[in-house]
Amino acid sequence: MNKKSILLTEFSRKRDGLRMQVYADNAATTKLSETALKAMMPYLTDTFGNASSLYRIGQEAHQGVKAARATVASVLNAAPEEIFFTSGGSEADNWAIKGVAEMMAKKGKKHIITSAFEHHAVLHTVQKLEKQGFEVTYLPVYENGIVHVDDVRDAIRPDTALVTIMYANNEIGTIQPISEIGALCHEKGVLFHTDAVQAVGHVPIDVKAQRIDMLSMSAHKFHGPKGIGALYCRKGLRFPNLIEGGAQESGRRAGTEAVYAMVGMAAALQEANDHLAENAEKLTKLRDRLIDGLLQVEACRLNGDRKQRLPGNVNVSFEGVEGESLLLYLDAEGISASSGSACTSGSLDPSHVLLAIGLPHEVAHGSLRLTLCESNTEEDVDYIVKCVPGIIKRLRDMSPLWERIQKERG
Ligand SMILES: *Cc1c(COP(=O)(O)O)cnc(C)c1O
Repeated sequence: MNKKSILLTEFSRKRDGLRMQVYADNAATTKLSETALKAMMPYLTDTFGNASSLYRIGQEAHQGVKAARATVASVLNAAPEEIFFTSGGSEADNWAIKGVAEMMAKKGKKHIITSAFEHHAVLHTVQKLEKQGFEVTYLPVYENGIVHVDDVRDAIRPDTALVTIMYANNEIGTIQPISEIGALCHEKGVLFHTDAVQAVGHVPIDVKAQRIDMLSMSAHKFHGPKGIGALYCRKGLRFPNLIEGGAQESGRRAGTEAVYAMVGMAAALQEANDHLAENAEKLTKLRDRLIDGLLQVEACRLNGDRKQRLPGNVNVSFEGVEGESLLLYLDAEGISASSGSACTSGSLDPSHVLLAIGLPHEVAHGSLRLTLCESNTEEDVDYIVKCVPGIIKRLRDMSPLWERIQKERG
């Protein structure tokens, strides 16, 4: 390399280092917290024993698992023996739904109630059960992205095996009336599961007061490590296992304990819970500032209820814009965002969530999800608000769709 090219490389490295970098895709995954990493390290190094072994390093690992379970339980107002670690949110959803379905089918109950905009871990699971002879009711979520409790009441039948409604939507952040649905299901004697992956560590949850029978969570959505989650399962409720093998997790979920991950999950959850109100207040302010800034752009709409939503979630649609191109331009400005759920990018179908709240296909295509966490700043938000209008203008200038919209409007 000659002197000049070395200089150029140095320059671009410096420029890259100085350029704003804004991570605004916290609904896809979050950065591991320092606290969680510190808590995990001993279990990745010296305390490597198998938690089921009787010698000292095994027992030390076992103590780590025990403490982690107790922490997760206490945050949700559950008992430690009601917490079962899994590989993540998807496994917890699959286990709860398939397990209850298998158990209830034996009693002749083969009807499941869910919503139209669940995460694919729930949606694809109930669709599979449909193929196996279950009947599934998909409740509407209306324009604001919230399930009506009366619709749940009307849908419950004598053969209803399970109600599974997510706590907060992963794309538009809307929070569902979980306490009311829990009370209703309890009154009707129907089991109630909630996919709370987006809610745990972000909003206060009390499984007992909210009458939740089963709840899914995932550590990487609250600054814990990836590949670990848990299912809360109310005491006395037992259904078939998803993973068979050893006697771990009280014989209900086999596999050598990922002690470091369990410990990291508990540390991250404790930390999130210790700052819950303070983080929510800060995030709500940032969120509203971002929403107000983006709504200044012509033909831009907010998706999902403005108030009843997660503190860090912003989801907007820009008419006449292709979401995927928008993401690429934002990335070039150092902004990481999403056009829907991480799982749907790569496919050309618009998100089922945006269709469920009634967006036309072409509007759904121009959607942008920005999800903030407590380490984002006002400067980040203002930077996004500064970058977006120019990108939208550039994209619309070359969009035949936008031209058509303009003509139609005269
Ligand atoms: C991320 C997510 C999941 C899947 O969790 P994993 O731990 O990634 O398997 C399930 N449901 C919702 C609502 C999510 O946001």
